[in-house]
Order: sequence, then C-alpha cells, then structure tokens
Amino acid sequence: MSGSDNPTNRPDKKVPGSIGERTLSVHGGNHADGEGEAIRVPIIMANSYHLPKDPSTMDWSNPEHLTYTRNTGINQIALQDKLCALEHGEDAVALATGVAALHAVFFGHVSVGDHVLVSDTTYEATYKLWTSLLPRKYGIEATFVDITDLDAVVAAIRPNTKLIATEVVANPTTKVADIAALAAIADARGIVLMVDSTFTPPPLYRPLDDGAGLVVHSLTKYINGHGDAMGGAVIGRADLVDPIRSEAMVDVGGVISPFNAWLIMRGSVTLPLRLRQHQETALELARFLEADDRVAYVAYPGLESHPQHEVAKRQFGDPGRGIGGYGAIMAFALKGDPATQSRFVNDLKIITSAVSVGHDESLIVHVGTTGPRVAAYPEGFKKYGHLRFSVGLEDVDDLKADLAAALDTACSVS
Ligand SMILES: *Cc1c(COP(=O)(O)O)cnc(C)c1O
Repeated sequence: MSGSDNPTNRPDKKVPGSIGERTLSVHGGNHADGEGEAIRVPIIMANSYHLPKDPSTMDWSNPEHLTYTRNTGINQIALQDKLCALEHGEDAVALATGVAALHAVFFGHVSVGDHVLVSDTTYEATYKLWTSLLPRKYGIEATFVDITDLDAVVAAIRPNTKLIATEVVANPTTKVADIAALAAIADARGIVLMVDSTFTPPPLYRPLDDGAGLVVHSLTKYINGHGDAMGGAVIGRADLVDPIRSEAMVDVGGVISPFNAWLIMRGSVTLPLRLRQHQETALELARFLEADDRVAYVAYPGLESHPQHEVAKRQFGDPGRGIGGYGAIMAFALKGDPATQSRFVNDLKIITSAVSVGHDESLIVHVGTTGPRVAAYPEGFKKYGHLRFSVGLEDVDDLKADLAAALDTACSVS
C-alpha cells in the first residue's frame, strides 16, 4: 500500500526509481502536510479519523482506510512506504516490536498441521516461539536445522513445510545464511522464505533482491538507531504481506504507535551514513581484538577467520552490491572464566553493558554458557560464553583504548 492509495488530502512526495541511498533515506515516505504545508510528516497522535458521510456499509476491518489507528494511520503509512523503498519491497507492515513482526509472519502464514524449518541459531524469542509456544498452542511443528548446511535443509523439508525462517547474520553467533541458495530451495517447492535481516539493514543488504519472500526487521535496532523507540516490520511481496496486514495487524493488534513510527522515520534518515561508520569501526575493532592473545575468539563475518566469510563477502561484503561491509555486531570472549568476562565488561568506561544492538552508542552483553540455545553454538561460545558487542558511532580510538584498558585490568587479576 502506498500513501496515495489512501483517502487523504496529503499529496505524496513520490521518490522516483533509480535514486541514491541517502536521497531515499531522506525523502522516502515523506509527504507534505496538506493543511499546513509542513515539509515533514507530522506526528498524528490520533486513534481515529473522520468517517465518510454514510459509514453504514463500511468494512470496519479494512486496513487500507484511515478509520482507526489499529487499521492504519498517517505515520504508519509513511514509515511503511519508506521501508518498501529502502528494502525494494512491494508492501510493508509496521508493528510494535520486532517480535510482533516475527509473530505476525508465523501467525499469517502457518496453520495447524503445518511444518516450518527454522535456523538452529536465532534470536531468543524466535527460538521460544518455535520450541514451545507455537507447537504447544497451535500444533505447528518446527525442525531446527543448521541453515548453512543446504543438504540438511533440503533433507528436512516435508510435504507440509510452509515456511523457512532464518536470520541473515544470526544473533548471537553471527552465522551467515546464504539467502539466494535458500530462496532457490524454497521457491522450487512453494515454500515461503522469511529472513530476519535486523543485523544487515538496507542499504547493506536487501534479501528480497536475492529472492526472499519476506524480510523482518526489528526497527528498534539500526533502522531507528538511537535507542529510543521500539518497532518491527515485515516487508516483501504484496501477496505475502497482505494476510499479515489484514489478520495479524488488524485482528491481533500489535500495531506501532504513531510516535514511535515518527521517531523511527526520523532516525532512519541517517541509516546509510551511520552504517558506513558502524562497519568501518567494527572491522577495525574486530581485527584489534583478534590480534590480542588474551582474546579466545572473535566471531565477525568481516574477518577471514569467519566460517561463512566468503558467503558474507558475496552477499554484502563486496562494495559492488551496495555500500559493502559486514555490519557492526560481533561476539567474542576472553580466555578466562565467567568472572574474567564480567570483570572486563564492568571495567569498560565508554562501552555500555546493556542489551539491544544497532544504537548510536556501543553496547556489550556478557552471555554465559548455559541456556537452551547453546548446544548449537561453536565450541568457543560453549567453553567461554560470549560477549555480544554492537559497535557504536564513537571514535574508534576511544573504543580501542576502552577495550585495551579493560583487557589489561580484567586479565591482570587471576
Ligand atoms: C532484537 C531482535 C529482534 C526482536 O526485536 P524487538 O524489537 O526487540 O522485539 C528480532 N530479531 C533480531 C535478530 C533481533 O536482534
């Protein structure tokens, strides 16, 4: 859906086809306010809109009409239009959180008796939805596979497999999926490929261009980028987004607030600029950490030592396909016990110990060696746990000095 399909008096500012990343980020989805001629979409904190003169025959659940903000709203429309432009999607639905977006895909595309294939390394909520909630409540079966083993993926497909769900770069191990190869497998069998691309937002990578049916983002992360709003989105082929809009959004109701949609719209303006800086700093820090004897391992797709470095390079690393780069999230651990890892994190002065990723500030989390998902992690993760590190926009020298000082103090005690 685009803004112009809506019965509103606000003239759309249409962004033409072949236009630069930054121009898209500034102008995508933005349209003039018809009343005051503001050049930015204003925040419309209204939950309902004027009805037509005779509404008696209206479809109250119509997600295309400005009736009620759970059906649609000005700020949602603007954000959805922008996300379509950024991801090369036909349609998009913006929701309250990334998890609401994931659930919306599952709810919209899978039913009782269906089977799904899920990557064995995923965001925790995805794992919980497929190991416990959806099988228990709705009788949907899930098989977890090593998504990098394409033979295993094909072997796990059943006649009732409806969906393959993976992350491009998996949280937290940074395992990289080959999206074009998975799309070919899914397409040949009429299966929907859903890709969570939260760690690789556009213009770094566009999974739809490689044949994915649906892309999910936690807008909370890079697309907003400032750590001050939550949101999620599903973007993709119109026929696949449609049931998500009409069922999961309107009838389940995980809609985004106009204020958060507006904040994310604003934050996303600088996305290409931020990503370039995030990535440049991350690669330098990954190399810096990998070169230090006290560091047990560094998992970052931009390092030659990463098991899927070649896939990452082909998909988004080479500048030939976009801005080039490997994102800015890595996992590493120090050679030492859990107390050493915690000491290191607590000794950091600039890098903040907090969950979430993709903020302007660098964030780090110490995750231990226990938990249901650890079985599928690489050896280093099992032995030492991991520090998930989301590299922010601070000066690289300051971050390097922060890491170096904390390495010294954390490793001097033993
Ligand atoms: C954070 C995250 C989510 C969930 O997003 P929320 O906005 O926190 O609900 C989903 N997938 C990935 C890969 C994430 O990092």
